[in-house]
Amino acid sequence: MRESTTNNDTRGHFIGGREVSGTESIAVVNPATGNEFGAIPDGDSDDVDAAIERARARFADWNDIAPAERGRILTRIAETLRENADSIAALLVRENGKSRSNAATEVEIGARYFEYYAGIADKIHGDSIPLTNHYVDYTLREPLGVTAHIVPWNFPVMLLGRTVAPALAAGNATIVKPAEQTPLTAIEIAQLADDAGLPDGVLNVVQGYGPDVGAPLAGHPDIDGVAFTGSVPTGRDVATRAVENFNPVHIEAGGKNPHVVFPDADLDNAIEHTLTSIFTFNAGQVCSAGDRLILHDDIHDEFLDRLIDRVRELTVGPGEDNPDVSPIVSETQFDHVIGYIDVGREEIGEPVIGGDALDRDGYYIEPTIFDGVTRDMRIAQEEIFGPVLAVLTFTDEAEAIKLANDTEYGLVAGIQTTNVNRAHRFARDVDAGQIYVNEWFAGGVETPFGGYEMSGFGREKGLEAIENFTQTKNVCLNIDNDLE
Ligand code: ADP
Repeated sequence: MRESTTNNDTRGHFIGGREVSGTESIAVVNPATGNEFGAIPDGDSDDVDAAIERARARFADWNDIAPAERGRILTRIAETLRENADSIAALLVRENGKSRSNAATEVEIGARYFEYYAGIADKIHGDSIPLTNHYVDYTLREPLGVTAHIVPWNFPVMLLGRTVAPALAAGNATIVKPAEQTPLTAIEIAQLADDAGLPDGVLNVVQGYGPDVGAPLAGHPDIDGVAFTGSVPTGRDVATRAVENFNPVHIEAGGKNPHVVFPDADLDNAIEHTLTSIFTFNAGQVCSAGDRLILHDDIHDEFLDRLIDRVRELTVGPGEDNPDVSPIVSETQFDHVIGYIDVGREEIGEPVIGGDALDRDGYYIEPTIFDGVTRDMRIAQEEIFGPVLAVLTFTDEAEAIKLANDTEYGLVAGIQTTNVNRAHRFARDVDAGQIYVNEWFAGGVETPFGGYEMSGFGREKGLEAIENFTQTKNVCLNIDNDLE
């Protein structure tokens, strides 16, 4: 097991199989205290060029390794991550602020991505296509080459695994741009992957701010594919840059997800999933959070009273103490969430619970619920990305579906009901990439995930993710044209 990290965590880029220092001028701040505890380099396009050069130099060798052996290396990465799970989770708590239990879950899912795609590495193959007996026609599934992976701060371990593991399994060489708020776990994972036997230069990490590193990476002429998770405006910028080079790109860009509760639902179950959906999992800093609770009129009062009773029991505190609700990742994000609570107060008045920051160092916000929200309000339409829930009401199924679809997003949607036909109608009629029934955050690494509308395009996770990192070549032979 590697040594646990110290309180002064200064780390560099990871390029060509070794850690490379630069001018370590970006502070890494612990959200639990607001104190700096580390630093990373303020990278630039020269660092991007260096990483691409190393990745390109190693791509052919990596792609030439037998797929089964590539899979074995990914399996060893998964094992190494699991052996080091405690120290990675501790670092994750420190850089992101999340609770210890959330961090442990995240590291396990990160490892699971490598394990899952390890098993797929030797099952990526083309088809034979029947034309006539005069032809042999087949397809090859080839890797793209060097792929760029821009990762956000809310799940720095899990989302790195989600995007990099399928790319590596398919034979690509990769460059990761971690979020500047949560850069330390990425370099730790790159080092551990190296320890596990990943060849030098196949997984590179370039640190720095988005416009200085992410932008030149996304638009680089020597990049062959781009994967991005983050906000809508940045996603648009990244997609535009990638498309200028006609590069495949997929974007996962958030949501404003509806959670609809019908009177026939198991209300205890619905309440517990509501808590997870917006408060207790990463303090609501989740693209697939259940931000909009849409309650049937008949159960609204009872449901809300019981929900508020449960919210009163939630603890808010430092990730180290394993609270129910952990701090917000950064001062900027804290200001953003508090700003939306102010918007809510202007639009509707006092929240029915919460609404304040804790009076202590660090970035703590109480779990907050606004009731009586209507569809036109900003807090019903815009992504807040924190522990703030908007409650709307409906009277019949048609209205519920209309409200569920009534934002520019379409990432996930949930329904609580015991009526199986209604659940299937909801799944059919709601425009979202994933539908939860009597559940929230369902599905594992195996289930495709991605958005409709402004939530993005392309699918990550599952077998579909392999499509993002391969291209099809068709080979057509006329086997009779040399006959007399
Ligand atoms: P947030 O506003 O929550 O930080 P972003 O979408 O800006 O979300 O960030 C997600 C990731 O995109 C981070 O790694 C960030 O550094 C990176 N990023 C930010 N701006 C750009 C940009 N202009 N081009 C490419 N990547 C960027």
